[in-house]
Amino acid sequence: MTITKRAFLTTSAAAAATLALPRRGWTQTTASIGGMEVTTLSDGNLMLPAEFIFGPMPQDELAGVLAPFDMMPDQALTPPCNVTLLRHGDNVVLFDCGAGFAFQDSAGRLGDALAAAGIDPLDVTHVVVTHGHPDHIWGMLDDFDEPLFYNAEHLMGETEFTYWMDDATVNSIGEERASFAVGAKRRLEMMEGNMTLFADGAEVLPGVTARMTPGHTPGHMSFVIADGNDALMVVGDAIGNHHVAFARPAWESGSDQDLAMGAETRTALLDQIAADNMTLIGFHLPNGGIGTAERDGEGYRFVPSA
Ligand SMILES: [Zn+2]
Repeated sequence: MTITKRAFLTTSAAAAATLALPRRGWTQTTASIGGMEVTTLSDGNLMLPAEFIFGPMPQDELAGVLAPFDMMPDQALTPPCNVTLLRHGDNVVLFDCGAGFAFQDSAGRLGDALAAAGIDPLDVTHVVVTHGHPDHIWGMLDDFDEPLFYNAEHLMGETEFTYWMDDATVNSIGEERASFAVGAKRRLEMMEGNMTLFADGAEVLPGVTARMTPGHTPGHMSFVIADGNDALMVVGDAIGNHHVAFARPAWESGSDQDLAMGAETRTALLDQIAADNMTLIGFHLPNGGIGTAERDGEGYRFVPSA
C-alpha cells in the first residue's frame, strides 16, 4: 500500500491578502489498494462540547489519558471530518457525504474539497452510508433541497435506514438527538426510489464488503475495501477519535447511542485491525484519517499513514 498526501488552497495567497480572507485549505490523503485508489477529502470539522464524548468516562483517569494529546477533560472538541472517496474502474464512490450547509458552520465543505480534487458532484456514481448522523448524510441535499449527487446510487444498511425512517425514533432517541432524527428522516425520504439497502456481510460494490459495527448508532456499518491481499477498513464513527477511543477503547463514550454496545464494537474492531496490521480510515481521525492501530500499554495508539 502506498500513501501520499497533498494539500490544496482554494484561495491563492495573493487573493487572500487582497481580500483579507483567511486562507482555507483542504487536504487529501491517498492510499492505493491493489488497483484501487482511496482518498480522504475534508468536510471541515465539528464543534462539540467536551461532555458529548467524555461525559460517561471515569473523570479521575481521563486527564491522564488526555495529557499526551495536549488535551484537557473540559476542553471543547473540534474533530475533523474525513469523507472517503474510492475510484475503481468507472466507479466514483463516496463513503458518507458530509454535513451539508444546515448543520454546523465549520463543516459542510465537501463541495469545495471535491472541486479542488477535480470532481463534479454529478460524476459521483455511488454514495455509501456508514450511518444516519448529520455530519455523515445531511450533505446528501444541496442548498435547494435537491439530491446533490444526482446521478449516484445511494446505498445504506437496512437496519440503519429502518431506524431513521421509523416515526417512533424522534420520540425515543432523547431530546439531545431529536433534531438528528428529524433531519435524517427528511433527507432519506427525499432519496426514496434512489436508495439501495443492504445487510451485514453484503458485497455492496466490487471489492467493498459491509460489516455491521453497531453501538454508535443501531445499524452503523463499516466497509472493508480489498483487492487481492491488500485491504483497508472504513470504520466511520465506530472508532470515533484518536485519543480515548484508541487509548481506552472499552470506556463508554457519550457519542455512542448504545454506550455498552459501542464500547464492545470498538474494542473488537481495534483488536482485529491491530492483529491484522490493517489500515483503517476514521471519519473523525486526524491527518486525513488514514492510519494504523499500534498496541500501546493497555490500549492502542493511532499512527497516521501520512
Ligand atoms: Zn460523525
